[in-house]
Amino acid sequence: MSKPRVAFFDFTSCEGCQLNKLNLEDDLLALLDIVDIVEFREAMDDKADSYDIAFIEGSISSPSCVERIHDIRRRSKFLVALGACAVQGGINAMKNLHPTDWVKEEVYGEDKYLFPSIPAQPVSAVVKVDYEIRGCPMSIPEFLHVLKSIAIGRNPEIIDYAVCVECKLKENECVLDKGMFCLGPITRAGCGAICPEFGQYCTGCRGLVSNVNQNGAVDMLKKHGLSTKEAVKRMDMFCAFDVSRETIGGL
Ligand code: SF4
Ligand code: SF4
Ligand code: SF4
Repeated sequence: MSKPRVAFFDFTSCEGCQLNKLNLEDDLLALLDIVDIVEFREAMDDKADSYDIAFIEGSISSPSCVERIHDIRRRSKFLVALGACAVQGGINAMKNLHPTDWVKEEVYGEDKYLFPSIPAQPVSAVVKVDYEIRGCPMSIPEFLHVLKSIAIGRNPEIIDYAVCVECKLKENECVLDKGMFCLGPITRAGCGAICPEFGQYCTGCRGLVSNVNQNGAVDMLKKHGLSTKEAVKRMDMFCAFDVSRETIGGL
């Protein structure tokens, strides 16, 4: 049986997710036993016409991105979004909170007409996405799980519960009790609650759980004397595309 042909593509991003893959080290050789990497700009010059699995890093933020992602989708059997930028628009989507023309002027000045730009969107807003690997940068264990599952014809397990669940299982001290603001109650788990484990609050890099418990989040905030305005501000960092100000008005 031939090995699945795998390709990696970058869109608007810091390329941190792709660089993260180059750190696979111990797993890289085992990985090459089960897949053929046919295109990966960060690591090789080769190009291919079609792919069994295309991994996409970055958000869609220009007309040329839209055209290119449609082309890749047409040539791929499975398309997987890699990291917060590709999955939920990520940090790039913060620009959507301001008028596009103003943002272009601030960044490019009088050259703004040379850079066609549209609001930053997750890949799934433009083409069908088969699987999502979350985090900023993307989680390596999740990447390996999704890749191996597709390679052997299984559906990868996708986590859809809050970071608080993992945090409590690890018996971490809750940072809310130390007066910090934490997005763990509404953020999708899978990172092992790594930030609270080291005494930091969760900034929501893995995006929202699919059924956000708004009432529970409001109650928790009130109990700890924390402001709902602060919640909205914090969610802008990684969830600006997902969560409109109207939606989080309930918080
Ligand atoms: S998700 Fe984070 S690490 Fe990955 S490309 Fe976006 S900003 Fe960079
Ligand atoms: S530290 Fe954050 S993630 Fe952990 S239990 Fe408290 S609110 Fe939830
Ligand atoms: S705890 Fe929150 S911010 Fe930290 S890695 Fe997990 S989801 Fe991202």
